[in-house]
Amino acid sequence: MSKYFTKRFEKLIPYVPGEQPQDKKYVKLNTNESPFLPAPNVSEAVLEETKRLQLYSDPECVKLRRKMSEVYNLPPEYIVMVNGSDEILNFAFAAFADEKSPLRFPDLTYGFYPVFADYNNIPYKEIPLKDDFTIDINDYLECGETVVIANPNAPTGIYMPLSDIEKIVESNPENVVIIDEAYIDFGGESAVCLVKKYDNLLVTGTFSKSRSMAGARLGFGFANPELIKDINTLRYSTNPYNVNCMTIRAGIAALESQSYYDDNCKTIIENREWTIRELENLGFKVIPSLANFVLVESEKIDGEKLYLSLKEKGVLVRHFGKDRIKNYNRITIGTIEQMQILIEKIKEIMEI
Ligand code: PMP
Repeated sequence: MSKYFTKRFEKLIPYVPGEQPQDKKYVKLNTNESPFLPAPNVSEAVLEETKRLQLYSDPECVKLRRKMSEVYNLPPEYIVMVNGSDEILNFAFAAFADEKSPLRFPDLTYGFYPVFADYNNIPYKEIPLKDDFTIDINDYLECGETVVIANPNAPTGIYMPLSDIEKIVESNPENVVIIDEAYIDFGGESAVCLVKKYDNLLVTGTFSKSRSMAGARLGFGFANPELIKDINTLRYSTNPYNVNCMTIRAGIAALESQSYYDDNCKTIIENREWTIRELENLGFKVIPSLANFVLVESEKIDGEKLYLSLKEKGVLVRHFGKDRIKNYNRITIGTIEQMQILIEKIKEIMEI
């Protein structure tokens, strides 16, 4: 820390992203990316857009929001586009939470939530998940705080039924409820259908996972137009051109190829079920997941040891230091060939 660094951020502990190694090629199952390329029309659209790089991007993302509106069946004024859904989480925390309405989220969830809370100087409560890692809905009913729930949750992959989400939203009318749907396309039902009904619901989503665009940084938020306006106040006060023109074009092209991505999601779901069966046959406990990853543990091998041994053999998975899950690993679901390699390497390591 330099002597110039402001006291305000002295204690801030930054988020640690999953490894993005540049040295060698791994079977990369550590950051929940898609193993599939973007649809062919996406690359073409991006190339075409490079001819307009001298111009600023459209801060309103009008064409992209129009296309989103068609796909998600929601008017454009209910939609905001952002530079990866991380960005809207930061905006939303800053816009809707404070001392009077602190943040409330599970103890095991997306690691960026406490960081954004600290960055914005917002108090937060981390509510322990039940022993089976599910959320106790009673912890969130009439809680009078700003609720943030990843659904499916990460890193557990556990999905909370939409009827429970609705109860939480309905019972906290004075507070915003943020539902982070980064992984919703792998089997869950989106809360987007509730957005018109509740003016305190913000649903966030991303093109990083099911639409193979993590590197392009495109996320979105769905909410009542009043909430969207608040988000835009913060967006226009920081970076109105937050979504670059190539990403806007890529997003439109991706939405035009929706069936390609739907097919990819089906494949990931099949590969997930295959992987779960194989891991269970090897004696692993697998947390039931509706995401493109699984959280697993084995009594026969320590979580960190398995992570390190797999890395040595060229397979990268994610290990977290947090007490409750330090014997677990989170494994992204990739192609069937990648998952076969994973299982082979685990067998070698465990000498099965
Ligand atoms: N929410 C959750 C639960 C995530 O796991 C991630 C990805 N790390 C994000 C949001 C953010 O994704 P992105 O910024 O790529 O849209």
